[in-house]
Amino acid sequence: MTVPRDQLMEKIVALCKRRGFVYPSSEIYGGLAAFYDYGPYGTTLRRTIRNLWWRSMVELRDDVVGLESSIIMNPQVWVASGHVGGFSDPLVQCLGECKERWRADQLADMHRCPKCGGPLSEPRQFNLMFKTYVGPVEDSAAVAYLRPETAQGMFVDFKNIVNSVRVRVPFGIAQQGRSFRNEITVQNFIFRVRELEQMEMEFFVRPGTDDEWHAYWVKERLRWFAEVLGVDASHLRARPHDKDELSHYSKATSDLEYDFPFGWGEVEGVANRTDFDLRAHQEHSHEDLTYLDPETNERYLPYVIEPALGVERTMIVLLLEAYDEEDVRGETRVVLRFHRNVAPVQAAVMPLSKKQELIAPAREVLGLLKPLYRTEYDQTGGNIGRRYRRQDEIGTPFCITVDFDTLNDRAVTIRERDSMEQERVPIAGLVERLRERFA
Ligand code: ATP
Repeated sequence: MTVPRDQLMEKIVALCKRRGFVYPSSEIYGGLAAFYDYGPYGTTLRRTIRNLWWRSMVELRDDVVGLESSIIMNPQVWVASGHVGGFSDPLVQCLGECKERWRADQLADMHRCPKCGGPLSEPRQFNLMFKTYVGPVEDSAAVAYLRPETAQGMFVDFKNIVNSVRVRVPFGIAQQGRSFRNEITVQNFIFRVRELEQMEMEFFVRPGTDDEWHAYWVKERLRWFAEVLGVDASHLRARPHDKDELSHYSKATSDLEYDFPFGWGEVEGVANRTDFDLRAHQEHSHEDLTYLDPETNERYLPYVIEPALGVERTMIVLLLEAYDEEDVRGETRVVLRFHRNVAPVQAAVMPLSKKQELIAPAREVLGLLKPLYRTEYDQTGGNIGRRYRRQDEIGTPFCITVDFDTLNDRAVTIRERDSMEQERVPIAGLVERLRERFA
């Protein structure tokens, strides 16, 4: 059953709340716009996304290393990077009834409020960085910023990394972590949040090879979405920026866009940042940030290709890809058809009833699967049909049921999420059978 596109987001938001994926932050106090908390399944989904990215971008490669830099850095970093001067969006305010604020570049009509039709103010630049103070004195010398991107950590630690670990251009530095943007307009659930989790990699290359590497990373990142996360490739596209759209640091950027219910939207940006950042930090810090090629003895500032994305948008993509409803014997079955790699629970083990004699074999089966898969033990929650439906809603590919026959035949039932088909398998062969079915 296809769910109408205009209802999809609403349904996903409701499911995320109902099943413990995403809650509004500090909800008992009325929440805080564009801040969210992630419940048990949301947390697992986010960790899984981060782990799959880290595995592909760092662990399975021999040319990328990791970094965790601090969220609050010396404020000069943000002067050099251009964020203090230029990380801003044009803000307009409704001068009519509703007084709503808007991002001018996102309005179809720059003169009329989309909500109440009132006149709009002239645009003024609004800096998106959150400010705070370091230390006990709240004066201008103590002002610092919560980072709006993780990337600058990689540039300011470039020299440390080159001097302390064995890396040679071309190589990358990858980082995952929180970034903060005081976005003017927030909408579409977790698509645009004010506290986000970024996954960024700065890949340092020899100038002149940058176009080639840029093309490589666009292709590689599309492959990751399709092969590792199971995203339908026809729902994704790479859209090169027009010249007037490029950021101040970029020579070329391709957005990897997803076909959201509200239109094509950026999930990841792959930018050719040239040597803009290293050059800027070299000038402002007066430190030599050039790289000495040990083979040719040439010294240069490397160019940088940056694939950068957020966990939140990746989450929405996965939820949109997965969400489905179907009619089963007159009832609507809601199912998240998550790819096996991303399902927060990959196998749920459930005794048919709470009878003591079923618990021991169910726990035994759980013990077999726990080291291999993300598992859940589901003993409560009513009859088996209701428990299957709950697992369907959180996207569990396989439920393993222990019933009274198990006590005699030492076999269990594997129930598959999408087809709802059941298969009887001896406990002794369960691990092997699941391995085949996950393959
Ligand atoms: P947009 O044009 O949508 O504001 P951006 O071009 O400013 O995004 P980048 O600076 O390229 O975004 O950030 C890299 C990635 O970080 C984006 O592709 C997106 O996945 C994520 N991201 C950026 N801002 C937000 C936000 N406010 N909420 C959620 N994710 C974000």
